Amino acid sequence: HTQDFSVSTKPLHGKPGRVPVGIGRRRMRIVVTGGAGFVGSHLVDKLIGRGDEVIVIDNFFTGRKENVVHLFGNPRFELIRHDVVEPILLEVDQIYHLACPASPVHYKYNPVKTIKTNVMGTLNMLGLAKRVGARFLLTSTSEVYGDPLQHPQKETYWGNVNPIGERSCYDEGKRTAETLTMDYHRGDGVEVRIARIFNTYGPRMCLDDGRVVSNFVAQAIRKQPMTVYGDGKQTRSFQFVSDLVDGLVALMEGEHIGPFNLGNPGEFTMLELAEVVKDTIDPSATIEYKPNTADDPHMRKPDISKAKELLNWEPKIPLREGLPLMVNDFRNRILNEDEGKGS
Ligand code: NAD
Ligand code: UDP
Ligand code: UDP
Repeated sequence: HTQDFSVSTKPLHGKPGRVPVGIGRRRMRIVVTGGAGFVGSHLVDKLIGRGDEVIVIDNFFTGRKENVVHLFGNPRFELIRHDVVEPILLEVDQIYHLACPASPVHYKYNPVKTIKTNVMGTLNMLGLAKRVGARFLLTSTSEVYGDPLQHPQKETYWGNVNPIGERSCYDEGKRTAETLTMDYHRGDGVEVRIARIFNTYGPRMCLDDGRVVSNFVAQAIRKQPMTVYGDGKQTRSFQFVSDLVDGLVALMEGEHIGPFNLGNPGEFTMLELAEVVKDTIDPSATIEYKPNTADDPHMRKPDISKAKELLNWEPKIPLREGLPLMVNDFRNRILNEDEGKGS
């Protein structure tokens, strides 16, 4: 594994004849798969905001039209209801491939569908990239490191993953997606980028997706106890979504293939996270202990020196600043839900 895949040789393309955007850059047509989801919709906002054309492909498994409804009517925005497990023909310059259920509750709901999305969905998007000469970015995950024996995790670590566990449809699925991505690069010369995303939070997260930040925030707003799984001493590192979006764009536009860890190195136990939520939302919030789930990684923290050095990227928003930025969105949606039930 000594070969260096970190530098791609082909220049950034942009089709001749496209409308110029700003100085020295032409408008691009960009596909975002999973663009109606949490991360995808924020990415789409950024791409539309800088003047590009965006096509979202989403099957609405976990994504919602509400996340992109503010873009309806914008002539540079298009939304296609489509499952990436099926082939699709489009003409585009770049592909951000995010489509995949991301929270444990969702990806375990139909594990076979999750692995099909990761394998066949990624294959189709790579086939598309190959046919039209588009640059392809895969959103992989810190879960490729499994329950890590190295801490913090560097991109060179090969991971400690259970191939037959309940999480395998997701983590082995993403590992295969990374493999396919590198094979299309080596075999077919497709320009590729790989991001390994660590736990991310922010507005538009699914309210009931079972992830720890959305659970604690929703529970504190609803005046329910925050559910801490296990002893609460396991750790995670939480990144605010705008930092991630900046990292994904820097990776796509840069010259390096990766993989790159994109995450916030600030590390918290679940009990510490509960404290931050309590301070932010409701000082009287309580916690309740519940049994932990199978194969839960004990700790997770990215080493981001590679992204800092090669992409000139690092997260800017610490947990205590980012959490308040999602509370209003959660309050409004919980209020709407409650009103819906009452009517
Ligand atoms: P999300 O569930 O909000 O978004 C995923 C989107 O993909 C949804 O809109 C969903 O409807 C769509 N989708 C799922 N299967 C599809 C299919 N077969 N065809 C078409 N669309 C499909 O999740 P997210 O948090 O926005 O995650 C986006 C990506 O980032 C995922 O690939 C995920 O694995 C990766 N990631 C996220 C995190 C995180 O903390 N949020 C961490 C690591 C990796
Ligand atoms: N594919 C697609 N859109 C395209 C080109 C390809 O969805 O524009 C799909 C295609 O149906 C195939 C996959 O991508 O299932 C891989 O394509 P590739 O050309 O690499 O492989 P092949 O079709 O030769 O098996
Ligand atoms: N967790 C928790 N309470 C919850 C949901 C999750 O204590 O209500 C814990 C979970 O056991 C895990 C951590 O929070 O140790 C992160 O879980 P999440 O599902 O958010 O993400 P992932 O396991 O994919 O990192």
